[in-house]
Amino acid sequence: MLSTHKLLINLNEAQTAAVTTDAQHSLVLAGAGSGKTRVLVYRIAWLLAAEGISPYAILAVTFTNKAAAEMRNRVTELLDKPARGMWIGTFHSIALRLLTMHHKEAGLPKNFQILDSEDQYRLIRRVISDLELDEKQWVPRTVQGFINGKKNEGIRANEIDDFGDDNSSTLIKIYQQYDDHCNRGGLIDFAEMLLSTHQLLLNNPPLLEHYQGRFGAILVDEFQDTNEIQSAFIRLLAGAKNRVMVVGDDDQSIYAWRGAKIDHIIGFKDLYSDVKQYKLEQNYRSTNTILKAANAVIKNNAKRLGKELWSKQIEGDLIHYYGAYSEYDEAAFVAEEVENIIDSGVDGDNIALLYRSNMQSRLLEEHLLKHNIPYKVYGGLRFFERMEIKDVLAYVRLINNRHDDVGFERIINTPTRGLGAKTINQIRNFAQINSVSLFAASIKLIENKVLANRAATSLAGFVNMIDDFDHNHDKEQLHPLFDDVIERTGLRDHYQKEPPEKALTRLENLDELLNAAETFVKPEEDDQIGMTALASFLAQVSLEAGERSSDKDVPCVQLMTLHSAKGLEFPYVFLVGLEQGLFPHQNSMDDPEKLQEERRLCYVGITRAEQKLFMTYATSRRIRGRTQGCAPSKFLQEIPNKLVDQLQGNVFNIPRNSMFDNSNSSQFSHYKPGVAVSHKIFGEGVVLELSGQGDYTQIMVEFSQHGTKILAAKFAKLEVL
Ligand code: ATP
Ligand code: MG
Repeated sequence: MLSTHKLLINLNEAQTAAVTTDAQHSLVLAGAGSGKTRVLVYRIAWLLAAEGISPYAILAVTFTNKAAAEMRNRVTELLDKPARGMWIGTFHSIALRLLTMHHKEAGLPKNFQILDSEDQYRLIRRVISDLELDEKQWVPRTVQGFINGKKNEGIRANEIDDFGDDNSSTLIKIYQQYDDHCNRGGLIDFAEMLLSTHQLLLNNPPLLEHYQGRFGAILVDEFQDTNEIQSAFIRLLAGAKNRVMVVGDDDQSIYAWRGAKIDHIIGFKDLYSDVKQYKLEQNYRSTNTILKAANAVIKNNAKRLGKELWSKQIEGDLIHYYGAYSEYDEAAFVAEEVENIIDSGVDGDNIALLYRSNMQSRLLEEHLLKHNIPYKVYGGLRFFERMEIKDVLAYVRLINNRHDDVGFERIINTPTRGLGAKTINQIRNFAQINSVSLFAASIKLIENKVLANRAATSLAGFVNMIDDFDHNHDKEQLHPLFDDVIERTGLRDHYQKEPPEKALTRLENLDELLNAAETFVKPEEDDQIGMTALASFLAQVSLEAGERSSDKDVPCVQLMTLHSAKGLEFPYVFLVGLEQGLFPHQNSMDDPEKLQEERRLCYVGITRAEQKLFMTYATSRRIRGRTQGCAPSKFLQEIPNKLVDQLQGNVFNIPRNSMFDNSNSSQFSHYKPGVAVSHKIFGEGVVLELSGQGDYTQIMVEFSQHGTKILAAKFAKLEVL
């Protein structure tokens, strides 16, 4: 039996009060790192150990599946025994579980399929085209947002008022037809998962009664990010008797775009009776410097409940800013710093690289690779681990080295060329007996005429094709070789034939691989030892693909988007790409509400760091094939100068109020951001920003030789190139 004392010694006074509350409903509203998740975990242990509640009666909702697993472990640790029977998961995983168990009642086929966001998008496009509507007018992404928005609010197509106007009645028609498609095909999208589950319970009183009877204690982490339907789901399960505890932080609400409403956390007291509210104000996670920076940024948001955190921790290191010349410079800086940190004896998994958009991971990956630093990308496969990429690389590896049996096995029948298991076994056996490679075995078997006719012809075709690639391509020119491989092996066609939603991503990835081949520069060291560009490229890739480090226990640097970093903490954090238009995101620049959400996201990012925080930006970046000048993110200027050590560049040098003012219509407006210019002394550069008015107009230019300068437009006499 656990002593409840052991539980409580690890909590402060406010946390203890929340954990041991006797109120039926409780709300913990507190800032980042103040121990909200800890309170939730201890509350579960408390309910089991001190109040004797059965694990079966616990339903805990977390933000990620990883967090769910962690929560389970923590409870087990605290209790010294596994607490089987608890339901801990995300809203989606819990919904999916209910739908799977009760698919009949939910009107779903047994093997219903989940539509991810890309699948959904393609289906919506199809519906739009079936209805003979113009995609320019009915933009699929917008329609997708509309449908999901309605689902998140719990509203079906037939429940929307169309007010008799064409626009809404068409949207309703698309929504309805899309749902019909899903119903016929047994398909279910993410928003639908929650909506269907809610309806499942609502329409089946015995089922609802069963679950209401079961889950006596319901706990929800990150409550600030619940949307209408999630909030209704909890309310439904809570019924009149069950106990509900929710924890959250209004400053960390980052899912408004998915229908989350801060109002739910504020309105919690109105929806439930007997609510006690608890405040936690001590932060245990971060140094004072990091905490002050976070407070300084979030303070610029108008709509806040308002709370300040304090910490007993040391002041700690200053926050490092790095203004890179380009995205390459940025990634190189990050990889180098990461290496330094690891060299100082820190395990890689203590380091997180956080970015606004998924696509930013690619260059970071490339540079980590160069330094041989193991890493893991969350929410997406590492680039070179994707199936289509591995397929192409298997061919290229075989071209480079006929003894590469792993490559051979992978593609001998991909795309299918009629070589069945029997032939492949013959090849394997022959290779083993004679201790030769699979490729060499194939040649021998053809020569010896021991294979069935069709198999022999097909295998010969394969062998000749590989030899042919080898003879016809210069090993220093990767792009033509890769291009030829993708086409001639039939891989492009092969992927084109996949369902459209998958095919597009795969083809995009193949193009990205071609990009990588084209821009690859052989390192000097490899050149000196006589490696071909091809061999050098493959060496780098296989280091990365992890075949050498099959050891799963290697600590990996953690790469993820800011959104998926919520709730996590790391001793070392790099926030990258802090540029106007990237973070804050382009879509939010003119919308105060959205800008505030971006700022909350920045607050989330900063408060992930325990000891050391790096914030980087690039003054030029290639976006969608064009190199553009970029201005540093305004969030960087919101952190007081005295908390910052700027390693390169200087965001504080830039006039604060003018820097982001793009509304310049003076005689200098032809110096648009992104325009190439030339200066008598500084040479060539790119305009980053225009600020000020009339004669006082200033131009910020990134010069290739002299870095960033701010010049008075009137005197600079810049020549547009
Ligand atoms: P977020 O808002 O980022 O989700 P949170 O409020 O959930 O943060 P936790 O993750 O629960 O905060 O706690 C932050 C860190 O502080 C954790 O490492 C936790 O173990 C530690 N911590 C919390 N309370 C205490 C305490 N009373 N004593 C020691 N450490 C604590
Ligand atoms: Mg938390």
